[in-house]
Amino acid sequence: MHNRDAVFLEDLCPKLRNRRWRKSLHEYTGKSCIYCGKNSESIDHVLPRSKGGLSLTENCVPACLSCNGSKTDNDAFEWYRKQKFYDPRRSMALRAWTEGDIRLALRLLNWAEPKKHARKNKETNSPLNEDYSWQAA
Ligand SMILES: [Zn+2]
Repeated sequence: MHNRDAVFLEDLCPKLRNRRWRKSLHEYTGKSCIYCGKNSESIDHVLPRSKGGLSLTENCVPACLSCNGSKTDNDAFEWYRKQKFYDPRRSMALRAWTEGDIRLALRLLNWAEPKKHARKNKETNSPLNEDYSWQAA
C-alpha cells in the first residue's frame, strides 16, 4: 500500500524521486563509502553508465569522491581488489548489493566496520529490523 503511494508520488515528481532515492542510498550505509568506509559524498555506478549501467539501487552504491574518482569506468570488483583499503567483506557486500540483497550487504558492511554500527544494535536480536523501518515510512 505504502509502496504504491510512493510510486504514484514519484511518477508525478521524478526529481523528488531521484533526490529521495539518492538520500536513501546514503542512509543504507550510514553515509559511508561502500569501498573504503569514508564519508560517502557521491553515488557510484558499479557498472558505469558509459557501459550501459542503469541508475538502479542494485547498480548504485554510496561512495566517497576519492573512490568514485579513482574507479572511473573500471570494473568495480577488479578496481576494488587493487586498492590498499581492500576488504573482502566489503567486496562481498558490494556483490550482495549488486545482486539486490541490500540486507546482506549491510550485514557484511557492519561486519567490516563493527565499531560504527555494533553498539547501536547490540540490544536487539535482529539488528537489521530497526534499520529498515524507515523504508516503509
Ligand atoms: Zn571511498
